[in-house]
Amino acid sequence: MRLIIMGPPGAGKGTQATFIAEKYGIPAISTGDIFRANVSAGTPLGLEARRFMDAGEYVPDEVTNSMVRNRIAENDAATGFLLDGYPRTVAQVAELDGMLSDAGVALDAAVVLTVDPEAIVQRLLHRASIENRADDTEEVIRRRQEIYGEQTAPLIDVYRERGLLVEVDGMGQVDEVTERVLEAISDTGRG
Ligand code: ADP
Repeated sequence: MRLIIMGPPGAGKGTQATFIAEKYGIPAISTGDIFRANVSAGTPLGLEARRFMDAGEYVPDEVTNSMVRNRIAENDAATGFLLDGYPRTVAQVAELDGMLSDAGVALDAAVVLTVDPEAIVQRLLHRASIENRADDTEEVIRRRQEIYGEQTAPLIDVYRERGLLVEVDGMGQVDEVTERVLEAISDTGRG
């Protein structure tokens, strides 16, 4: 099973990704988590990514693309994976298409979580107080939402046209949303 999960910042992608990946026995690969791990470890990749992340901007494609290419080539991703936070731009979609066709595999579904934008800001501010993420200030949250609307929301139509889109209501309890996602994937006949 090869999946991607999309949704605006704060939609709960990371939380859902963990449960969905567990269900299918595949790794959940979060570009945001990989970047944050590199920032914490002080690697060159982390130093590069940090400047963009702290401002709420996207890390440049060439950095992100090669990171994902290497990650999905690892053994644990041979039979499938769930990408959380990638692709995020039209150019990244083309890159991912190339990676998959090089490997002779294809995506099974693109899950998008739909949420109420008002609720999201509150959620993110709440998360900021718990996790202490540098990119969870109100100003940066707004910037991330803006960039999502400009650069990532158009991907929804791309995957819809390919017949891969699985739209799921992301509001409600975590386990309710997980159930909805699993059911929606199973309805496509691929789950
Ligand atoms: P959220 O979806 O809540 O904004 P993530 O943890 O997915 O948070 O990502 C945090 C930050 O990491 C993004 O704001 C961006 O700077 C960087 N990032 C993650 N994935 C990508 C990507 N595919 N392309 C560019 N930048 C990315």
